[in-house]
Amino acid sequence: MISRLKGTDDILPPDSAKWRVLLRAFGSLAERFGYDLALLPVIEPTELFSRGVGEATEIVEKQMFTFEDRGGRSVTLRPELTAGMVRAFLASGAQGTLKLAAGGPMFRYEQPQKGRRRQFYQVDLEYLGEESPEADIEIIEVCYRLLEEVGIEGITLKLNSIGDPSDRAGYRSILQEYLRGRKGDLSKDARDRTESNPLRVLDSKADADIVADAPVPLDHIGESAQEHFDAVRAGLETLGITFEVDPRLVRGLDYYNRTVFELFSPAFEAAQSALGGGGRYDPLAVAIGASREVAAVGAAMGCDRIVEAMPAPGGDRLDLFVTVAEPNLRGQARLWISRLRRDGIRVDWDPTPGRSLRGQFKAADRSGAAAVAVVGEEWEVGQVTVRRLATGEEARVAVEEVGAWSTSR
Ligand code: AMP
Repeated sequence: MISRLKGTDDILPPDSAKWRVLLRAFGSLAERFGYDLALLPVIEPTELFSRGVGEATEIVEKQMFTFEDRGGRSVTLRPELTAGMVRAFLASGAQGTLKLAAGGPMFRYEQPQKGRRRQFYQVDLEYLGEESPEADIEIIEVCYRLLEEVGIEGITLKLNSIGDPSDRAGYRSILQEYLRGRKGDLSKDARDRTESNPLRVLDSKADADIVADAPVPLDHIGESAQEHFDAVRAGLETLGITFEVDPRLVRGLDYYNRTVFELFSPAFEAAQSALGGGGRYDPLAVAIGASREVAAVGAAMGCDRIVEAMPAPGGDRLDLFVTVAEPNLRGQARLWISRLRRDGIRVDWDPTPGRSLRGQFKAADRSGAAAVAVVGEEWEVGQVTVRRLATGEEARVAVEEVGAWSTSR
């Protein structure tokens, strides 16, 4: 047997039932909020991520699946979607705003554990070309509603503003000075980051004590970033979305500015426990080579973790299981099933010709259907016998009525 690679999963029933609920909820929300679908390459030029995520980030330094293709180009399996979304937006030449929804597998070479996989799945939203705080509010709202709609309880939203790049230069040296003064007590990673990317030290769990007293970006943001942040907070309040301001929340990408946020639930507790997060990234387009800034905000929700936190979906797997008592009626049963399916009824049957009725009933039990129909001698008079599996209640129903009967519980 060839086994799958470390940190990858086979997502199969029954677990995949939750995935279906999640992906449906995301598709439906994206549509209701006016986000169009984007399908992007899973493989991109390495440079997109080294520039779009940032050289001095955990992802680019340690986690990318990067290799040379047969043409000698350095290519990378995408570790995230945002950089690709901005690349695609710029390449499309679109003017104005574009609201995009995407999703699929991402790849990061991490030490696998619960909620930390090498191939994992995200659903992603980007609001491109919009600088108004309304965009930030909306992106956060969709993420919040997604978790609500799939039944996750106790959602916590952590929110922060890291200001604009112009605010950051000053803050960066203040933070660096603070960290250099405590060099001896910092972890090796934090010492290195103090020089290359000091903001990242703020979310270092190993250095929590030192970080607790460190100066925070929020105290060093400019007036217009402050106004933006105030508007985002006020907007979320009017929507009844509760949040905590977490002044140490920074996020892993280099090109965030202003709003950053992450979502949590006690239903998923692990070392790295965010169910999703995002923020504003106005500087990203220029970082990957655009000639002008593109104001934008987005979010990525981690499906693997959301699914772990979700309750199992209730309800039956199928509305109806059709059995055939008279072998010569199989052809007609097949046509009837086809019609029911086209009418939106979830129907299955046993494909094995000649299987006894008892055998077919066993298959019906295993199938997770709410009811069974028997195509037998009453077929001649346009009827079938139906039975609800939970209660044993039986009836004879006109063939045209069975669809409605089977979905009226
Ligand atoms: P990030 O932009 O890195 O914060 O990723 C967004 C979300 O994707 C996180 O909040 C997680 O839910 C999820 N995620 C990130 N990395 C992994 C991973 N290696 N395995 C599973 N989920 C992940």
